[in-house]
Amino acid sequence: MQSYYKIMKYENFSSKKLQICDFFCNFAPKMENLYRQLYNWYAQNRRVLPWRETNDPYAIWLSEIILQQTRVVQGMDYYMRFLNHWPTVEALAAADEAEVLREWQGLGYYSRARNLHKAAKQIVESQEPSGFPRTFDELRALPGVGDYTAGAIASFAYNLPYPAMDGNVYRVVARLLDIDEAFDTSAGKKLFHQKIETLLDRDNPRLFNSAIMEFGALYCTPVLGDACASCPLQAMCLGYAHGTAEVLPVRKPRPKVRDRWFTYTIYTDGTRTLIQRRENPKDIWYHLYEFPCEEGQTEDKYPFTHVLSHQKLHARFIVRKVQKMPDIAGTLVIRWEDLNDYALSRLTLRALDTLRLTPQN
Ligand code: SF4
Repeated sequence: MQSYYKIMKYENFSSKKLQICDFFCNFAPKMENLYRQLYNWYAQNRRVLPWRETNDPYAIWLSEIILQQTRVVQGMDYYMRFLNHWPTVEALAAADEAEVLREWQGLGYYSRARNLHKAAKQIVESQEPSGFPRTFDELRALPGVGDYTAGAIASFAYNLPYPAMDGNVYRVVARLLDIDEAFDTSAGKKLFHQKIETLLDRDNPRLFNSAIMEFGALYCTPVLGDACASCPLQAMCLGYAHGTAEVLPVRKPRPKVRDRWFTYTIYTDGTRTLIQRRENPKDIWYHLYEFPCEEGQTEDKYPFTHVLSHQKLHARFIVRKVQKMPDIAGTLVIRWEDLNDYALSRLTLRALDTLRLTPQN
C-alpha cells in the first residue's frame, strides 16, 4: 500500500485524480498481478536485442544513445558498428570527433554523437577504480544523458530501482492510468514520473523496465486496432475502461515548422571537389561537411526536401565543372575518392546518390 499513499500525497483530489487513487486503492494489493501478466507477456513476445542480453553499462549506454529518435532496425546496424569499432569506453574516448561523426553519418541528431564522444572522454579522464559511472546521479551528469537514459543504464546494467520512461512507456502509463495531461511538458513529465514510481517493480527494475518498454513498442502501440480486446493488462487499464485509450497519450501542440532554402554548388575538376565544414554550434549539422552552400529562397526549383524535427529544408545542387578550383574562404579541396572520409548530412548523401556523382564526374 506504500504506492497508494504516495499517490494520495501528490494528488489534489479532482474527481479524475480520485478515480486514479481508487484504482490504486483497489488494485495496489493486486500489483503482483500486473507484474505477472506483464512478465508473462514479455517472456513470450520479447525480441532478442543484443543490448538487452548484456549487463555491460558501456554497451547499454551506446545502444540507448543510438536508439533515441531511431528505429530498432536502423539502430542495430550502428550499434554493432560502434561496438566493433570502439569496444570499450577508453577506445571511444581516444577516437577523433570527426571519426565518430563519420560513423554516425545518416543517423541524424548529430549532437548525440558529439555528446557521446565528450562523455566517453569525461568518463576516462575522471575514471576511478570502479570504472564506468555506477550511480544514477553520476550517469545523469554525463553530457547527453537525461533522466530516461540514466534510468535505463542504472536499471539494465546495475538493476537499480529507477524508471526508464521512453515514449513507449509514457503511452502505456497514460493509458493504464488514463492520464490526459500532456507528457512532454515539465509539469506532465513530473506527474508521469510520480506515477511510474508507484508502478515500478522495485524487486525487479531491470525486468520491469524491459517488459513495459517492449509492451509499449510491440503491443500497446499508437494505433491500437483491436489490441485491447485480448490485452493481458485489460482488467487493470483505466484508459480501456473509460474508452479513452485510443486518444492517449496527450502531447503539447507542436511548434511551427520553419522552411529553409539551400543552394549547394558542387565544383569539380574531374578528380577533385570543394567542401566546407558547418561551424555554427547553434545550427543544424554542426561540424558536418557539405558542398559550398548559400541560404535563401530564389525563384528556382528546389528538387530535394529534407524534414527535420522543426525545420523543412528545400535544397538544390548545381554541378559546376571547372578547370581550376575557385578560391573560396573556409573550403577544403579534396579528392572525390576521399569524400567518404568526411561526415556528410543525409541530404547531401541523397543528392550524391540521385545525381550519380562519382570521382570521374
Ligand atoms: S487495454 Fe489497450 S490501452 Fe490498455 S494496456 Fe492493453 S492495449 Fe494498452
